[in-house]
Amino acid sequence: MDALQKLQLLGPAAAFEPAEEVGMLGERAPLPQTPDELAGCISHATLPGGKRVPMLKTLVSSACERDCRYCPFRAGRDFRRATFTPDELANFTAQIYRQGLVKGVFLSSAILGGGPHTQDRIIATAELLRRKYQFTGYLHLKIMPGAERDQISAALQYADRLSVNLEAPNARRLADLAPHKHFSEELLQRLRWIHELRQTLPVRRPSITTQFVVGAVDETDVEILTTSAYLYRELGLARAYFSGFSPVVDTPLEHHPPIQLHREHRLYQASFLLRDYGFDVEELPFQQDGNLPLYEDPKIAWANQHLVHSPVELNTADREMLLRVPGIGPIGADRIIRARRQGTLHFLGDLSKLGIATKRAAPYILLNGRRSPQQLTFWTG
Ligand code: SF4
Repeated sequence: MDALQKLQLLGPAAAFEPAEEVGMLGERAPLPQTPDELAGCISHATLPGGKRVPMLKTLVSSACERDCRYCPFRAGRDFRRATFTPDELANFTAQIYRQGLVKGVFLSSAILGGGPHTQDRIIATAELLRRKYQFTGYLHLKIMPGAERDQISAALQYADRLSVNLEAPNARRLADLAPHKHFSEELLQRLRWIHELRQTLPVRRPSITTQFVVGAVDETDVEILTTSAYLYRELGLARAYFSGFSPVVDTPLEHHPPIQLHREHRLYQASFLLRDYGFDVEELPFQQDGNLPLYEDPKIAWANQHLVHSPVELNTADREMLLRVPGIGPIGADRIIRARRQGTLHFLGDLSKLGIATKRAAPYILLNGRRSPQQLTFWTG
């Protein structure tokens, strides 16, 4: 098998791991001059800072010795596997980078020969890319279960982002999902090490992310979001990714139903409330079963409980309170605070000019003491 053939097997395999992408090639405007044979391996990625680039996503190997119950690459499952040597992958990646086809790379792998051995192959690929092939693009490296602390130090030298897949929110749920993985020792400890070691870097600190598989066992949203909140607060996590479970034939969970529609989306909305909007887990509008309502935005659900009868006066509210209003995000809150220095906000049209989603905000606000429904005739947004 040549490098392209391997990539055609291992690139789409990495699609199971959400990273920076917002959609596979073709879901948005196609990237110009991307050969068809690479289309399944390149995704549009939004990098930290908001820049959009084409990113190569691939596994170094799909040969795995573990037996995670949901996973298509689990040991013993019959399908065509492939493994790159570090130089083969680095060389091929460098070629398509020089051709301008990709600006970023995401490297992950199945586990063969133990976590540290697999990590060595990922690091060797990264080192070749950076040192031998002068790759200066964005690089996201996966940290394997059981990787050693020194390996994390090495990975930090090359990466813009490191991630550890927790997969489940706690040890009990992980035991159902991946019986031979150890939540604290193999996974969470690696996130802690990344956090510690990145503090020692003088400049260019790589960001940290994780991924949860959602809907494969009976984990609840409150469990997932409690762990996410801890990671945001204590370990400086940049983002939690939620990978909705979809059953794979010839795995122990092949008859388990897929994730419910909208659940992934609600988890992302709630996790942003934790990360960017000052919400605590206890404030999120969980149902009795520990899950978020599927058909209601969690911020709107919170506002319907707390703000309908106590609307927020936008001319005096502090930033923390502004962020509680649906339709007002961190950028909008800052714009409101700046605009108030120039004069009083009177109308929804004033907000519209600041980029506020006035239709969403209107039921929950006062403008100069007046509820917004009286002002709808002024609304132009
Ligand atoms: S370690 Fe588990 S999740 Fe990762 S590739 Fe192997 S079987 Fe799949």
